[in-house]
Amino acid sequence: MDKIVSLAKRRGFIFPGSEIYGGLANSWDYGPLGVELKNNVKQEWWRRFVHSRADMVGLDTALVMNPKVWEASGHLKLFNDPLVECKSCHNRFRPDQAVGVCPNCGSKDLTGIKQFNTMFKTFIGPAEEAANIAYFRPETAQGMFVNFKSVLDTSRKRLPFGIAQIGKAFRNEITPGNFIFRTREFEQMEIEYFIEEKDWEKYFDHWLEEMKRWLKDLGVNQDKIHYHEIPDGERAHYSKRTVDIEYSFPFGEGELYGLAYRGNFDLKNHMEKSGENLEYADPETGKKFLPHVIEPTWGVDRSVLVAMLEAYREEQAATAEEGETDLRVVMKFPKWLAPIKVAVLPLSKKENLSNKAREIYGDLAKNFVCEYDETQSIGKRYRRQDEIGTPFCVTVDFESLEDNAVTVRDRDTMKQDRVKISELGDHLRKNLESSS
Ligand code: ATP
Repeated sequence: MDKIVSLAKRRGFIFPGSEIYGGLANSWDYGPLGVELKNNVKQEWWRRFVHSRADMVGLDTALVMNPKVWEASGHLKLFNDPLVECKSCHNRFRPDQAVGVCPNCGSKDLTGIKQFNTMFKTFIGPAEEAANIAYFRPETAQGMFVNFKSVLDTSRKRLPFGIAQIGKAFRNEITPGNFIFRTREFEQMEIEYFIEEKDWEKYFDHWLEEMKRWLKDLGVNQDKIHYHEIPDGERAHYSKRTVDIEYSFPFGEGELYGLAYRGNFDLKNHMEKSGENLEYADPETGKKFLPHVIEPTWGVDRSVLVAMLEAYREEQAATAEEGETDLRVVMKFPKWLAPIKVAVLPLSKKENLSNKAREIYGDLAKNFVCEYDETQSIGKRYRRQDEIGTPFCVTVDFESLEDNAVTVRDRDTMKQDRVKISELGDHLRKNLESSS
């Protein structure tokens, strides 16, 4: 984990938040490479689960919703974490982290266990009074339920169909930590899939399979995944089945994604509290009923973390010196996930070479996310691209000026091919699409 955190900072994936002011505990900023990586996760998810399916539509709802939403969803009452408070320094801790003594000041004067609501409170408008209290959403899901009727009326979808959303969620976590695993501000990718009650098992299995396929394509080792069936008594009362998809992180098992059958709990509560009829009318029978819901949820930041942990490799690799090797750190991201797809590297900074290389870069950049780099030795530049997971390096050398060809180096095999500049785009496209 330390290696990933340090690589992330050194290479521009993820920086500590507000760093020039001494940071803000457990907040992180995505740097130039991190934002590409995270966008690749979100775009592939959207392409796969929204654009490629006739039974799905997307949505993007407000971060701050009417507080009644959180009353109806149960969050105001139940979205709590237990904690104890030190009566001396007033720090708050999870009960298992302050057994009898305050880990901050050592005082033994602690309160009993209290329930602490983890929603972020704010005020709407200039007056900070109770009537103006609002909350930053702790999940994206309620946006889908609240807009269910509007989506139904405008999209002409029929059951089964789903609504998907990607966006930020906020939780005032008592124990954030482990890099981007648990933060107070994070992103989710969620689907509410509306079905008839009788079909719930079929669609639960369908989404479980989809989540497994997603993990495989993210490059995750199946041996590190654990499907935890939440037993009776621990599940929410309205759910007949919930599976937590866990991953063996370096710090222990942790939830990566979740899949829950929510019955018609949410639509029923919103219908009661809002007074709006949220029923669905079957177009054939005319029968009206509240659809049931299967909810698969993915954490974006945890996806990024897992992708980085899985991609990280240390290998002995040959150097330019005959028979010598040194350590190569390489991020073997699946190609679709790599933040930069192609690096264009002129062998030297000589003007005629860099002009040619810039011309090639200009052409490639229209179709691929590219980087141009002409500083340092070619060996060092290759190693830098390995460390950020760039699948292909295109090297422009003096021969290129004569034969209009370049060297294409493969990140994984380190094999080098000579490719005609006129065929370079096709060559890269073909190889970027293969096996990813
Ligand atoms: P945990 O048990 O780890 O607190 P949870 O069960 O509260 O997670 P859900 O409410 O099911 O999580 O949220 C759905 C997904 O959102 C999680 O599977 C996870 O990927 C992500 N997630 C939840 N809380 C955080 C957080 N504080 N930081 C980053 N991602 C989070």
